[in-house]
Amino acid sequence: MIHKPTKRPLIISGPCSAETPDQLLKTTLELKATGKVDILRAGIWKPRTRPNSFEGVGEIGLKWLIDAGLETGLPVITEVANAKHVEAALKAGFTKLWIGARTTVNPFTVQEIADALRGTGIEILVKNPINPDLNLWIGAIERLKNAGLEHVDAIHRGFSSVESKTYRNAPMWEIPLALKQEFPGIVLICDPSHITGKRDLLQQVAQKAMDLIYDGLMLEAHIDPANAWSDAEQQVTPKNLAVLLNSLILRSEHSENVELNSELALLRQKIDLIDEEITALFAKRMGVIEHVGRYKRDHHITILQPNRWREIQKKQLENGQKNGLSAKFIVKYLEALHQESIRHQTAIMNK
Ligand code: PEP
Ligand code: MN
Repeated sequence: MIHKPTKRPLIISGPCSAETPDQLLKTTLELKATGKVDILRAGIWKPRTRPNSFEGVGEIGLKWLIDAGLETGLPVITEVANAKHVEAALKAGFTKLWIGARTTVNPFTVQEIADALRGTGIEILVKNPINPDLNLWIGAIERLKNAGLEHVDAIHRGFSSVESKTYRNAPMWEIPLALKQEFPGIVLICDPSHITGKRDLLQQVAQKAMDLIYDGLMLEAHIDPANAWSDAEQQVTPKNLAVLLNSLILRSEHSENVELNSELALLRQKIDLIDEEITALFAKRMGVIEHVGRYKRDHHITILQPNRWREIQKKQLENGQKNGLSAKFIVKYLEALHQESIRHQTAIMNK
């Protein structure tokens, strides 16, 4: 059901952690009543960054989750972090599991889980590793596929980053999109709860995921979010989950409307032409740069001129601001431009 979803977005919801049978069942009944949830999630083993935080109820919770699923008819999913967890979950009757971000980083553990799952036909979702390393994510998926699992899909939950202030985990959307390019058939689920860390920001991240054609969403919901034993700030009540989901605008990738499509094609032609101009301008800049390079070489001047570089940055940041371009974009693009310029000049120096 995850691997070939019949509905978009596929919604996986439930509490961060199963706390008590009562908390889990009440949350599940309310989630079921929204009519919007496809799969029930709950963490039983919680790999927490610091000790002495709530680390999950453990094996006993497996049965609570299975029972809540039976009571409501919702399929269930939980997180496994080692082979022992896999064994216990399989024994309890789970057919869907996910691997958490703190596990995906460790190839030995992922391999151990893959070996424990060999021949089971289980559906498995792999969260991105906590660090922004696409290959680690790809590697984890490959290990599971190599163990003969056919239903291996992915959850994007953001990346630990010193830079991120707005979000608990920076989304770095380009990474999951690159994963999708690597595995075109993969089902990609977005987890706005762990990306944002704050319920106020869930909607905008969920909407962005829909606009980037994600297949589904994993959103944490709790009967009493403020008093949740883990991730209290990012959970929502089942009712608010329904409000959030109702607010999402689902745009389709293509329009049926021929006129609209030709208008879009025209705009795209314009974009292509502008991109060509930009590339030609870059090439023109490199021509001048090479000229400067020859001058520097002949007069024994260094390639790198920090003051000149700072001056360029300052000018273009101001210019960018005037033209509605973000400082982040200008800094990034100038950086790339600078590197390419240095590369051209180095080639000249070494001639
Ligand atoms: C979770 O889903 O509750 C969880 C622990 O997530 P992550 O592995 O993304 O931190
Ligand atoms: Mn959580």
